[in-house]
Amino acid sequence: MEEVVLRLKELLFPSIADVAVLSVDVDIEIVRVDAQCIADGAVCPVCGVWSNRVHGSYLRFPADVPSGGRSVVLQLRVRRFTCGNSGCARRIFVERIPGLTRRHGQRTERLRSTLAAVGLALAGRAGARIARVLGASVSRSTVLRLVDALPEPEVPAQRVVGVDEYATRKGRHYGTVLVDIETRRPVDLLPDREASSLAS
Ligand SMILES: [Zn+2]
Repeated sequence: MEEVVLRLKELLFPSIADVAVLSVDVDIEIVRVDAQCIADGAVCPVCGVWSNRVHGSYLRFPADVPSGGRSVVLQLRVRRFTCGNSGCARRIFVERIPGLTRRHGQRTERLRSTLAAVGLALAGRAGARIARVLGASVSRSTVLRLVDALPEPEVPAQRVVGVDEYATRKGRHYGTVLVDIETRRPVDLLPDREASSLAS
């Protein structure tokens, strides 16, 4: 049985350190995974000092990615620690499990990113419909909110720039327009047609 539980950890949380799966309960519609962090202590988020003085714990129930068409909910025991640094402003802090959930998050990070990817491809209404088919019941507005929370994509530097000219004031004044050849989008407008402006 112990072996099975260890294998479950590998199966369910392959990339997350210090998490143990205690049990898995399956019924017709839902899978409940009882899990907790097994690190000896945690680092205070305010002062960075390590503490192993446990000051109680509580349960959180973040939704996880569905499995076999069933919804998955973690029953995650989260510990509170006392910060041992007398100079620290924080007396009690809650442990964090990087990569698994975020503070006050109702979903695991991987469910968030899955739903955001569905939302990016299909937008709110269709995204929510497909998520429900996959076993993750979620509203249209939540799908949109998760897409909205995605980091802005980095705009790559233009590699090839085209140069053209534009006219203003009914052709009496000419400027230069720079166009990214790859994306075909204007990059910049220069106020004149001087070679020095273009070079800079
Ligand atoms: Zn502290």
